[in-house]
Amino acid sequence: MELNPGELKLDLYCKGIRLHESCSADDDGRGLLRTRGGLGSGLEVLLPGGLYTNIPVEEEFAKKSPYSLHKEKGKYLIRKEGKAVSEIKLLSRPKFYDAKTSTGKPMHRIGVLQGTYLGIYPTEMCGFWKMKPKMNCKFCSVGLNLGAKEEQEKSVQEVVETAMAARDECGVTFVHFNSGFCPDGNELEKLEPYIKAIKEKTGLLVGVQAIPSDDLKKYDRLKKMGVDHLSFCIELYDKEQFCKTCPGKAKYLGQERFLKAIDYCAKLFGKGKVAGEIIAGLESPASTMRAIEEFAKMGAVSTVCVFRPCKGTDYEKTPPPEYEDMLPIFRKLYTSCLDYGIPFGIAPNIKVSIVMLPEECAYLVPNLTPKQKAQLAKIEVMKAAFLAYFKARLALRRNRK
Ligand code: SF4
Repeated sequence: MELNPGELKLDLYCKGIRLHESCSADDDGRGLLRTRGGLGSGLEVLLPGGLYTNIPVEEEFAKKSPYSLHKEKGKYLIRKEGKAVSEIKLLSRPKFYDAKTSTGKPMHRIGVLQGTYLGIYPTEMCGFWKMKPKMNCKFCSVGLNLGAKEEQEKSVQEVVETAMAARDECGVTFVHFNSGFCPDGNELEKLEPYIKAIKEKTGLLVGVQAIPSDDLKKYDRLKKMGVDHLSFCIELYDKEQFCKTCPGKAKYLGQERFLKAIDYCAKLFGKGKVAGEIIAGLESPASTMRAIEEFAKMGAVSTVCVFRPCKGTDYEKTPPPEYEDMLPIFRKLYTSCLDYGIPFGIAPNIKVSIVMLPEECAYLVPNLTPKQKAQLAKIEVMKAAFLAYFKARLALRRNRK
């Protein structure tokens, strides 16, 4: 059966790809830098339809994939069991990766592109990795990255310089700050100087993904600062799986804290500006779909990551999920946004490589109800209005430079 680009993106998450000897990823692409979410470590490519993705390559399961990548007459081609499936582009390594900050650090050690946005992990290593015994989430590779491929300490100035370079070279519109667990509970306070500087100096959109605070008033402060998006990684909805997979989160935070923060922030920031992040493939599809429904009821979008058993992690031997089990989950993601009137894809030029965006799930849902179609039309109007506003804001910041 021939797959459309959305189906192909999903299938590649589940199966990975083998690199044929005719191509060498490190020569042409962004390289196999691990991505910050601790979930991905693959090849950044552009699929037909303008879909960015990060295809598993290094993991054991990818070595048995029916997909293989070939370089033929200077072009990259995906084959499935030998049969040509799709031509793709490897994302080239941006020049700013090798530029240096004013302090002399290569910028790729400050932030990396994940699709078309800039991901930055500015705080110290997640506290769950430092505990004895370790309490890290079992799928996570963050503790395997920092220091080896990234700088542990990133100054505000270094982050601003890297964001400006990414904006000017690649048209980046969104900077995403990510923080792990800080035992003092001050994750947000630590991110605030970076957020303020990025908002003030670059005019870019800012997203924050951090441990939920039990002091919900902190989110009022973030809103005043101009934060555009928040996401909360509950990871698993099934309580037992949550405790088993995320021992630190279960012991020190609990699922309730995530749900409260999502609910509070979705009301505070507005529909579609908050995401509940969940991993599909480590609990039953029905449980993941219950989470999607729950988040949508609150006004939040679900960010659903397909579980990837990254090398070196505690779950490296756990098999990835089957495509057939993932399909209803991503259909549900799309239809629940439409049914609950949650806008998506409003901000310009945000293409994400490590997850299926809600708008990309349109490829998986061939038929919509009239009400769902009307909601899609509304989204188009919101998109156009936001683009005009954002361009004006960016121009203002550039003129101030
Ligand atoms: S909270 Fe869990 S997923 Fe996030 S960085 Fe820490 S160990 Fe990794």
